[in-house]
Amino acid sequence: MTKILVVGCGVTGSSFVTAFINKSKKLDIDNIDIDIINKDDNFAKGLAYGKNASPFHRINMRALTMSVKPFKEKHFYKQLAKNQDSKINIIDDNYFYSRLTFGEYSSTYYLKKLSKIQQRENIRCNNIIDEIIDIKDNGYKIEAVNKEQNITQYDIAVICIGNQPATSYQYLIGKKGYIHDAWNEGLNNIPANEPVVILGSGLTSIDFYLTLKENKHQGKIYFVSNHGFLPKVRPLHILHNLKFLTKEYLEEQIKTNKDKLSLEQIMQLFYKEFETENIKFDINTVLQDLYSKSTQEILQQDIAYSQKQSTSFSILKAIDENISIIWNSMTIKAQQEFDKKFKTLWSIYDYPMPQINAQILLEAIRNGNLEIIKGLESVVYTEEEKLFKINFCSENQSTLKISHVINATGNGINVNNIQNQFLQNTLASKTLISHPLGGIDVDFETGRVKTKAGLSSNIFFAGSLTRGVHFYTNSAVENAKASARIADYIIKTLTQ
Ligand SMILES: Cc1cc2nc3c(=O)[nH]c(=O)nc-3n(C[C@H](O)[C@H](O)[C@H](O)COP(=O)(O)OP(=O)(O)OC[C@H]3O[C@@H](n4cnc5c(N)ncnc54)[C@H](O)[C@@H]3O)c2cc1C
Repeated sequence: MTKILVVGCGVTGSSFVTAFINKSKKLDIDNIDIDIINKDDNFAKGLAYGKNASPFHRINMRALTMSVKPFKEKHFYKQLAKNQDSKINIIDDNYFYSRLTFGEYSSTYYLKKLSKIQQRENIRCNNIIDEIIDIKDNGYKIEAVNKEQNITQYDIAVICIGNQPATSYQYLIGKKGYIHDAWNEGLNNIPANEPVVILGSGLTSIDFYLTLKENKHQGKIYFVSNHGFLPKVRPLHILHNLKFLTKEYLEEQIKTNKDKLSLEQIMQLFYKEFETENIKFDINTVLQDLYSKSTQEILQQDIAYSQKQSTSFSILKAIDENISIIWNSMTIKAQQEFDKKFKTLWSIYDYPMPQINAQILLEAIRNGNLEIIKGLESVVYTEEEKLFKINFCSENQSTLKISHVINATGNGINVNNIQNQFLQNTLASKTLISHPLGGIDVDFETGRVKTKAGLSSNIFFAGSLTRGVHFYTNSAVENAKASARIADYIIKTLTQ
C-alpha cells in the first residue's frame, strides 16, 4: 500500500486530490491511502473562498476563466449553470461572482469526487482536521508530526499550505490598533468613526475597504503605498492566440540561444505579440499615463475602458495564461531584473479589479471617504502618544498620525521571515529550501522539492509559496495546473 499525505486542503490541495482521482481512474494502481489534513473545516475552500470571505468579496476574474479543473473549459461557469437549484440568480460567464460562490463550487466538486471514490476499492481518501508542524524524510519513509507531536509515516507528501500572512511590518505586531493578519483577526474591533490607514493599495486593500464599509465604518479610510496606484479595472476580453510567447516558440528560442532568455529578449517577444494586432506597445506611454493623472481620473478612464472589449487586455490575458512558462524560460538574472523594474506595473495591469469594485472606490474618493496617498516611507509606533506615525517621502504629504492600521500588503513569500511553525521546522532541517525569488524551491514541471542532494523523489510542493518558480501563484487556476502536474508525476511513478 502507498500512503500519501496532503498537507493543506484549499483549492490547491483539493485540486491535487481530484486530479489524482480523475487521472488514476482507469489505471492499474495498487492500494492507495490518502490522508488530506487541513487546519480547519474549510476543505477545498481555503483562505480565499471559505469562511474568512464575505458575500461582497468577489473573485477578481470573470466566471469563464476561474476553475478548479484548469483543463476543462469554463468548468466553474458550467457547474453554476447546471446547478439550477443554486442560490445564484445571475448566470453569466462574464460575471464576477462572490468568492463564497466559488468556494461552494470547489467544495461541491471535491466532495462529489470523494464520494465517488468509495466505489473504488484501491483508493481511500480521509479528510482530517489537524495541523502538521513538521515533516522529515528519514530515507525510508516521510515522518509527519502533528500539533500533539504524534508521528505518522507516509510514502509521499504533497504540501499545499497556501497563503501566508504578510512579512512586512512584523515589528508592529502586538501594538494596540495594528492588525497584521486581517483575514484571520477580523476587522470588527475598529470603532466606526475612527480614521483607518490600510497599508497597500492593491486587491487586498480593496477587500478590507469593502469589509469596513459592510461593518458600517464612518471614519475616513486611507490607502497608503509607495506608488499609490490602484489595480486597473478588468475589461472584457476575447480569445487571443499567442504567436511568440508560446511554450513551443520559447523552447525553440532557448535552443538557438543555448541558454534561457534575457529580459530584453522576452520584452522583444512581448512587443512582437502586440504588433501582431498592430498595437505599438510603449512602456513609457503606459508610465506617463499612470504618473500624469490623479487616481480619480485614472479610475474614471479605466471604468469607461472596461465596458469595451480591449485587444490589449486580450493579449495580456493570453500572456497571463502562459506566464509560468514564460517565467521559466527566463534566466534567474532576467527574473530578478523583471521583479526590480516591472513587478509593480505587472501587478497593477495583470491583477485588475472587477468593475463593480472600481465604481465603489470612485464614489468613495469623490465623497471624501477614501483617500489614496503615495510616497509611503515608513510606519512608526510612538509609545508616548500610542499612535502610528505614517511617514511619506513626497513633499506635499505631511506625516499622518493614526490609531488604526491594517496591513494589506499581501501574501508573505519570503519564507525565512514567515512566522509559521511548519515552514520554520522544515527549512531548519533543510527538508525544504527557499528560492531566491520567493517561496520554496521546486522543480518547475513536477513540483518535487529541491534539496541539497537534488530533487526529492517523494516530497512535492504547490501553491502560493512556489512563487519564485511558477511566478503566477496568486491564481487558483495556475495552482490547480501545478497540482495536476504533481498528480501526473506521482501516478506515472506508481504505474511504472
Ligand atoms: C483574499 C484572497 C483573495 C484571492 N482572490 C483570488 C481570485 O479572485 N482569483 C484567483 O485566481 N486567486 C485569488 N487568490 C489567490 C489564491 O491564493 C489562490 O486562488 C488559491 O486560493 C490558493 O489556494 P491554496 O490552497 O494554495 O491556499 P489556501 O487557500 O491558503 O489554503 C491552504 C490551506 O492549507 C491549510 N493549512 C496551512 N498550513 C497547514 C498545516 N501546517 N497543516 C494543515 N493544514 C494547513 C489552511 O488552513 C488552508 O485551508 C486570492 C487570495 C487571497 C488571499
